[in-house]
Amino acid sequence: MTPDWTPLTRELEAWRDAGLTLPLWWRDDDAIAPTEPLGRLAALSDRLRLPVHLAVIPARAEPALAAALSTHLGLIPVVHGWAHRSHAPEGEKKAEFGAHRPLREIEADIRAGFDRLRDLFMDNLRPMFVPPWNRIAPEVETRLPGLGFTMLSTFTPRKETEAAPGLARINTHLDPIDWRGNRSLVEPGQLITQVAQQLADRREGRADNAEPYGILTHHLVHDTAIWDFTAELLERLMAGPVTPWTAPILKGP
Ligand SMILES: [Zn+2]
Repeated sequence: MTPDWTPLTRELEAWRDAGLTLPLWWRDDDAIAPTEPLGRLAALSDRLRLPVHLAVIPARAEPALAAALSTHLGLIPVVHGWAHRSHAPEGEKKAEFGAHRPLREIEADIRAGFDRLRDLFMDNLRPMFVPPWNRIAPEVETRLPGLGFTMLSTFTPRKETEAAPGLARINTHLDPIDWRGNRSLVEPGQLITQVAQQLADRREGRADNAEPYGILTHHLVHDTAIWDFTAELLERLMAGPVTPWTAPILKGP
């Protein structure tokens, strides 16, 4: 069944009429190694001319991933926590960087993750921290600039531009996977309505259009429906009044 894209088509027309431009970015989580789905992700990114920010799990990242990324310049590594291990007690939502451990221990994990990925990816690594499950305690956020990060990325439209002085919030806004249901694609009509609504919120000033609008994917668990929808959504967005956004590299001292 072909979904009805009319709400998005109309919204993008309204953007054109208003002379607005959407900064668009793409984040894909949980990479550790080059795989067939990673190749598919890279090919889609090339075709769309939209880079993918690949949130790599430092403790499990394989050197082969660095080799693969050195030939795919559209795949841009960022830091996905440390080991993707939850420290939340039983019954609480999963979080690696919640307030469940001494800050000293948390900081050591963050530092280890940054160091490991810098060793693997060198200057290509962007100083963006992506906490697993998009959860991070406020007291941990404030430590990130001191550890070398200039960007923090979670999920949902940002309420303020910075999480801490020098730490920009660059969130993601749409996740096509039905994590709580069958782990396939969320009903497409619902996703299309959501994008159109989020874009309308920006156009009408209810949300910050200076924040890059982020699509969040997880290449390792995509089925055909998720791949197809993601490709079509991005294709339609890229045909609109859009500027692709890429995380800046760390400035030297
Ligand atoms: Zn993750």
